[in-house]
Amino acid sequence: MTQTMRPTTDGAEGATTLEAASLVDELRSVFAAGVTKPLAWRTAQLTGLRRMLTEQETALADALATDLGKHGTESWITELGFTSNEITHILRNLKSWLRPRATSIPLWMRPARAKVVREPLGVVLVISPWNYPVQLSLAPLAGALAAGNAVVLKPSELAPATSAVLARLLPQYLDASAVRVVEGGVPETTELLAERWDHIFFTGNGAVGRVVLEAAARHLTPVTLELGGKSPAFVDEGADLETAARRIVWGKFTNAGQTCVAPDFVIATRPVLDALRPLIDRAIRDFYGEDASRSEGYGRIVNARHFGRLAALITEGHVVRGGAVDADNRYIEPTVLDGVDGDHLSMQEEIFGPILPLVEVGGVDEAVQFVTARDKPLALYVFTSNGETKRRFIRDTSSGGLIFNAPLVHMGAPRLPFGGVGESGMGKYHGEESVAIFSHAKAVVDVPAKPDLLAAIYPPFSSVQDRL
Ligand code: NAD
Repeated sequence: MTQTMRPTTDGAEGATTLEAASLVDELRSVFAAGVTKPLAWRTAQLTGLRRMLTEQETALADALATDLGKHGTESWITELGFTSNEITHILRNLKSWLRPRATSIPLWMRPARAKVVREPLGVVLVISPWNYPVQLSLAPLAGALAAGNAVVLKPSELAPATSAVLARLLPQYLDASAVRVVEGGVPETTELLAERWDHIFFTGNGAVGRVVLEAAARHLTPVTLELGGKSPAFVDEGADLETAARRIVWGKFTNAGQTCVAPDFVIATRPVLDALRPLIDRAIRDFYGEDASRSEGYGRIVNARHFGRLAALITEGHVVRGGAVDADNRYIEPTVLDGVDGDHLSMQEEIFGPILPLVEVGGVDEAVQFVTARDKPLALYVFTSNGETKRRFIRDTSSGGLIFNAPLVHMGAPRLPFGGVGESGMGKYHGEESVAIFSHAKAVVDVPAKPDLLAAIYPPFSSVQDRL
């Protein structure tokens, strides 16, 4: 059997030649044989994965450039280097994270001893999206391997060059008996989801997240859902507007806006928006030049469907910057819309592209109301130097992450849990959390035979009172 599976649809809708059931059976027997459990196996996989990122940097960066027009430096910062750092952090700490943790027990149980032992779950499925197709495949994979599981990775068919290169390279660097890559789209994922897994880790949109959750429910499989949504950026009166503009532009237009934690829209009072607009324009010119279509650092929209969806959001009368589109090259100019309200088309769904609406609110109170009236976002950004405003947002809003004065940066701190809440997802990962979600924390209690303190509560119950 080949280690990497490239299924083909055989013509009938939904039918594939994948044979997911036998794939899972095979991995289950590898797991049952204990192959994946030793610490040495886990660290060998993590080291192999990290080595792949450096030895195959060119192949991976080329694939990312083909799929998304990513610049090599951006690919290193947001994908390869990012994942490499995550793996290094896991490797440094794994031994201590896996050490059984002795816990204290109530007096009446003594002299028993208790500890918590982390055990691998078994055979897990990782389904990844196209926007950061290396990072969002390999960071969860690293967690699953560190926790001692056999894994099937299903990369996104919408980043086909990256999917193909991962399918080719991973078997060369990892134990191919326990780690498989299945390429494909909806039919293949549907077939995989019909199987019984010990955990499913899904990154993608909420509609597909619901499909995953329903499929998992049939087998009572635990699920992590890393979803998206609209992440607001509030800019307070008195904030350093020049820095705010540059950071918002960086967070928004990196990967041409196709970032789950990109600032989706800006909310601020009218005077702040008016002051911010020219600063945003200047930052875009500084980063991408007068014509972003010629900038090596500016990406492209992943496919024609997403291009069409985004182009429709650029409505006449609202464009105050940019707005040019080129369907042949899937290029959308960095675009700013002003004068939009909560009912505008761009405010209905996650934008996931290089279009930045500016929305007027009356002040901090209204900003908090604006945020809490909508789905809980994956990230909430607040640009402020006011301590009371910070406390207000911490106390009165809910989001996957709350970051003051900079977008995206929280992703790079492996000690911070990363994940959503409500519509933006369930479960969290990175660092130790990645090991935790792919493990079961097993309670282990050792009760000595003598003295038999339990004798105090054995039946007959008529005399229990006297014995206690
Ligand atoms: P998607 O949900 O369309 O696809 C994700 C994966 O699901 C792909 O591998 C795809 O093959 C599979 N899939 C798609 N439709 C399916 C179906 N009907 N049945 C079974 N499987 C199916 O997501 P996407 O478009 O690749 O990614 C964009 C979304 O992901 C955005 O909403 C974004 O915010 C979110 N996202 C979240 C994070 C995060 O970390 N929270 C990171 C990146 C992207």
